[in-house]
Amino acid sequence: MLKPLLSDKDLFALFRLLQEARRVVICGHRGPDGDAMGSALGWAEYLRSIGKHTTIVMPNPCPDFLRWMPGCKDVLFFSDRREQATQAVEAADLICCLDFNALSRLQDFGEVVSRSKARRLMIDHHLDPDTSMAEICISHPEMSSTSELVFRLIHQLGGFDAMTRSGAACIYTGMMTDTGGFTYASNSPEIYLIISLLLTKNIDKDKIYRNVFNNYSANRIRFMGYVLGEKLQFFPGNRASIFTITREEMKRFRYIRGDAEGWVNMPLQVRGMRLSISLREDTEKDVVRVSLRSVDDFPCNRMAEEFFNGGGHLNAAGGELPFPLEEAVRTAERAVEAYKDLLEPPTGTPVAKK
Ligand code: 5GP
Ligand code: MN
Repeated sequence: MLKPLLSDKDLFALFRLLQEARRVVICGHRGPDGDAMGSALGWAEYLRSIGKHTTIVMPNPCPDFLRWMPGCKDVLFFSDRREQATQAVEAADLICCLDFNALSRLQDFGEVVSRSKARRLMIDHHLDPDTSMAEICISHPEMSSTSELVFRLIHQLGGFDAMTRSGAACIYTGMMTDTGGFTYASNSPEIYLIISLLLTKNIDKDKIYRNVFNNYSANRIRFMGYVLGEKLQFFPGNRASIFTITREEMKRFRYIRGDAEGWVNMPLQVRGMRLSISLREDTEKDVVRVSLRSVDDFPCNRMAEEFFNGGGHLNAAGGELPFPLEEAVRTAERAVEAYKDLLEPPTGTPVAKK
């Protein structure tokens, strides 16, 4: 059996909050990923099943490779539909903030949310939550994903029976994408108990995997080949690597939103690699988007906070730099230099004997 997430007292408080709400807005972080979308869509299905009028608003669009997700076409993207999204927030009496830990992750949509008088609920798995952001904060950094959290909440609230195949598919997608297809942050045995429960809803997990990970355009795979072949630089000792992507290159390879998703994980396939950094010129603002990925105990989140105006998880973090790419590269080089001791292999690692 799945262990309950909330104490009876907290469950009751959540139950009351939901009971007292009539119109709900669910939102996720800027650049919504599979987990932001999956948890929002799964939670929306549950709220509608208990009679709540529910609208999902994301600050800007999700990548094309998530458009197949059931219910995606009804999601309002604030950057495209400002008026409608603002109206939805103004009409709401409850705002559910999923998969982010501070209103700043909503960017300009954050102002609309902070102006609203609606009550707020946070459901998230990022470290260091800003608990002043909501009256109830369900924050569990030890969870694989917000989608896993949403599943546990629905289960505990008694909503599992009413969950449909579509709702289950959305939750599975979020759990799968935030763990790189269950290859990191996914050692908790209960994750597989949840997956087996989701499979009873007849989801096709193999198809979901293909929809997300094997859904490249021809341009995207050639662009990836170019970046790995021509742009990837290894630091001495092959413990860290960096690659950059410019706007000019994106234009040349007909980049669409989300095309570079996941590339930052690839250098970690090199033996002994501990840290991978990607620097990409943003297509909307004059900033460089930074993504960090690591293995074992190398703290990407600390590096992101210290050098890249960001944060995140131990092994996956991000941020942005408000200056040109060449300068961003120098910042990244300084970050690697500052963390060089932590880039050494962990001591006590057994050395294979011949
Ligand atoms: P990605 O590299 O996929 O953009 O982000 C990986 C993780 O880093 C995200 O799940 C999120 O936790 C964190 N992250 C990315 N960008 C930012 C940022 O600008 N600020 C903060 N605080 N965290 C970020
Ligand atoms: Mn997440």
